[in-house]
Amino acid sequence: MINVEELRRIVGGDWVITEREQMESYLVDETYLGVKPKPADNVVVVKPANSEEISKILKLADREKTPVFPRGGGTGQTGGAIPTEDGIVLSLERLDKIEEIDKENLMVVAQAGVTLGDVIKAVEDAGFSFPLHPGDEGAQVGGLIACNAAGERAIKHGVMRGYVKGLEVVFPTGEIVNIGGKLLKNNTGLDLMHLLIGSQGILGVITKAVLRLYPRAAGNATLVVSYDDRHEAISTVPKILQSGIIPLAIEYMEHAEAEVSAEHLGLKWPAAKGKAHLIIIVAGVSEDELYSQCEQISNVCQEHNAVDTLIAERREEQADILKIRGEVYASMKARVADGLDVAVPPANIGRLMDEIDKIAQRYHTTIPVFGHAGDGNLHPILTVDLQEKGIFKEVRGEIYEAGFNLGGVITGEHGIGKTKLDEFDLYGDEKSRGLMKGIKKLFDPGNILNPGTIIR
Ligand SMILES: Cc1cc2nc3c(=O)[nH]c(=O)nc-3n(C[C@H](O)[C@H](O)[C@H](O)COP(=O)(O)OP(=O)(O)OC[C@H]3O[C@@H](n4cnc5c(N)ncnc54)[C@H](O)[C@@H]3O)c2cc1C
Repeated sequence: MINVEELRRIVGGDWVITEREQMESYLVDETYLGVKPKPADNVVVVKPANSEEISKILKLADREKTPVFPRGGGTGQTGGAIPTEDGIVLSLERLDKIEEIDKENLMVVAQAGVTLGDVIKAVEDAGFSFPLHPGDEGAQVGGLIACNAAGERAIKHGVMRGYVKGLEVVFPTGEIVNIGGKLLKNNTGLDLMHLLIGSQGILGVITKAVLRLYPRAAGNATLVVSYDDRHEAISTVPKILQSGIIPLAIEYMEHAEAEVSAEHLGLKWPAAKGKAHLIIIVAGVSEDELYSQCEQISNVCQEHNAVDTLIAERREEQADILKIRGEVYASMKARVADGLDVAVPPANIGRLMDEIDKIAQRYHTTIPVFGHAGDGNLHPILTVDLQEKGIFKEVRGEIYEAGFNLGGVITGEHGIGKTKLDEFDLYGDEKSRGLMKGIKKLFDPGNILNPGTIIR
């Protein structure tokens, strides 16, 4: 039984939802159709206003052994925010203030429910940059940290882990704790902050964060390089990285999916030639530096059989290209059974693509691919017709196996969540999983926080 009366006393009656039809959007996230977990029947949605209320909710839940499912923007793709047991969905949406942009330390202090879009806008208005860009700007600060999100611009400034300098957290037993702060160095004991980053809501509820900012680059340019062959496109990526330039992003996308995404947005994909494209974003302190980087990259791509190179300099033009790349998944969502998230050492990315091609040939099917090529991270797309043909599980398993054999992992950025537990058993080692279980028990002795996520 969920203690609805006590929840109402804590947050106020207006902020507790008990009617099923009013909570539908809190029972799902962006997990792919073929692997989406089913929400439980008896769920209550609670929207606290601050960490004190969250502390009271967690103390109550811990006492009464009620599962609690922290929820950010609901853009996660591994079922992390889906309440799979009867319990409480704890939505962070009312913690939506940017508390400070510290221009002297180049940091922003944001509550957990602030969206990525709002962070980017606020820091750009203040003259800074928050380069991280996973595809959906509706993701919230807490969710980005809980998932250690990455996305399209991780090559130069790294993944979310690199941005987080301090956290306010409410532990499952109700204590409110501050970890880290406006610090670039902090070597005080075991690093609990980095344990919480990527913990997908199983160790604590993140309520506030201190995030690092960067100065705004004087200019950016976006190259769209086209190839007739996807192997050639992907194999160029390590060569660009070895050339000494560190772009903000090197993304990979196929022509057919780019056109569908552009149409979905009412835009036009600017590259007419080729079957596969690299989207490369560079930043520079001067126009000269920008041009020199574009020229160097363009030369490397020509040497590897690129058929066309387009350079976008206008802000709107670059934003449209990024939007088209960002909406690829959304535009094909209805036919995606699963989008894998394999990451391999960056120099092995061409080999991974070769293996995917061989698997597609063996099963007489096609496997569209997009992804963060510069990070060695590809998203092979398994469409619903693989399920209809009865080859979904086999193809999925063979791609995981291929990635693993190339020194890779089953998830580069989306996490284990609730959808990759079987694969984690298969490809994770037992000792590490045992340690993770022990850590979970220390943080959450009652196992109330997001049960069934990352570990069984
Ligand atoms: C179109 C699209 C493109 C995407 N592209 C990328 C990409 O390129 N790279 C990438 O990494 N991801 C990508 N994602 C996935 C997603 O945006 C990220 O995982 C994001 O970090 C999820 O944030 P959220 O606020 O939506 O979290 P939710 O989906 O609400 O939750 C995700 C997990 O975090 C936990 N959580 C949420 N808030 C908190 C909190 N305050 N405290 C503790 N735990 C919490 C939840 O319990 C859950 O386990 C994409 C998603 C979409 C829909």
